Amino acid sequence: MRLRFAPSPTGYLHVGGARTALFNWLLARREGGAFVLRVEDTDRDRSRPEHVDAILGGLSWLGIDWDEGPVFQADGLARHRRDAERLLDAGRAYRDFTAREDFERARDAAVAAGTGTVARLAREMATAVSPEESRRRAEAGEPFAVRFLVPTGTTEWHDLVHGRMRFANAEIDDFVILRSDGTPTYNLAVVSDDATSRISHVVRGDDHISNTPKQILLYEALGAPVPAFGHLPLILGPDGKRLSKRHGARAVEAFEVEGVLPDAMVNFLALLGWSPGTDEELLSRDDLIERFSLERVLKKGAVFDAAKLMWMNGQYIARMEAGEVAAALRGALGGGRGVGGDAGGVGGGGEAGGAGGEAAVLDDAAFERMAAALAPRSRTFVEMARLARPYIAPLDGYDGKAARKGWYRDRAGTAELLRAVVDRLAGAAWEAEPLEAALRGLAAERGVGAGKVFQPLRLALTGLPASPGIFDVLLILGRERSLGRVERAIAHIVDDAGG
Ligand code: GLU
Repeated sequence: MRLRFAPSPTGYLHVGGARTALFNWLLARREGGAFVLRVEDTDRDRSRPEHVDAILGGLSWLGIDWDEGPVFQADGLARHRRDAERLLDAGRAYRDFTAREDFERARDAAVAAGTGTVARLAREMATAVSPEESRRRAEAGEPFAVRFLVPTGTTEWHDLVHGRMRFANAEIDDFVILRSDGTPTYNLAVVSDDATSRISHVVRGDDHISNTPKQILLYEALGAPVPAFGHLPLILGPDGKRLSKRHGARAVEAFEVEGVLPDAMVNFLALLGWSPGTDEELLSRDDLIERFSLERVLKKGAVFDAAKLMWMNGQYIARMEAGEVAAALRGALGGGRGVGGDAGGVGGGGEAGGAGGEAAVLDDAAFERMAAALAPRSRTFVEMARLARPYIAPLDGYDGKAARKGWYRDRAGTAELLRAVVDRLAGAAWEAEPLEAALRGLAAERGVGAGKVFQPLRLALTGLPASPGIFDVLLILGRERSLGRVERAIAHIVDDAGG
């Protein structure tokens, strides 16, 4: 099996392109075939080198590697022209000297006269010129386009996704294969290149279905073996319309920036139009390679669900080893230990209501504990880096709503409770069990539920109404920082009492 991905470098690698690349790659890896990357850069005006880089970069990030290429389509120009010549020589194509305006005028006249079909008008006009005259004018340097002479009959193929496909050739215009500036059109270039690369299977988006009969006719006219074709369903937004930016369809690169993991992205893309035949949703790369097949590609559009991608990413994070999670979090925090940039941004500390002045450093064990505690609460590492903020930087205040609903209802009582917490914690060994015994003991003595102690304490330690388990928080922050934060919270609650 020889497959290819043939992006045009007129934009970034988007979700649809990445899905096409992935399906081809999965098939090639499953079948031990070759995966060829071809950059279709014949459109000189719209192709950009930075888009080539972005597409190659996006594929590499996804872990989609290619066996041959990148082949640049523009390098095949001489061959594309030769193929057009061959078709001319064989009488399967003809030169068209008709100026566009002349053609349009004739077409409008035919339509106005109600003479019905104009399908073969271009042919009629162009072939009014005798073959000898056509050659003479070409030799004299007059510009012309080359049109393919569409034969009569029907064109059929067995689509690997859609099954039997059939087009009446009468519906197909004599399409241009070589423009008057000597450049090939997409249909000629793609057939010439796929034939040269001996591509056995062309797997691409549904939007190319109408090109396929033209391409099959070209293969036949060139005497080249016709590959198998499979067309992948469109990717739709949740409203059932074609996926667009409005639905959150962005360059694949944007998902990387957002903190999506390549494995999660690959898993997600694989399920855009393919199903393993069960309701499994989490499939590793190896699972996918083992199980992927075009038979299970759906015929109808696949809905892009950004929330599902985020969920899936969270599942991948939850399944990572603790060390890996910590390393990825350090990466998301900017390569440091979460100390540098973030802590610096908060300023010198000592700000009102804050827990300034403390060293924003976690040792490796505390950092790993923090990463493990935040993992189940984070869908991406970017989100995790944000959640890590209270542990790696001074607090920049307390959640106002939580403070009003909790602390400020009974300032004196809260301050007194937090003082008791400090006393208990100060006397406890700084390990999960003694800390838990101390706090639960305090709650029991006062005849209140543990939450009545944990919630005000959580706000004091993190500034937030929600966090990982309170004992994890205490262990991440350590004795000194924890007690310091509770003291500062007490001062804040009492100080603010007048206002
Ligand atoms: N260059 C074409 C595109 O980006 C793909 C051509 C093909 O797969 O045949 O849509």
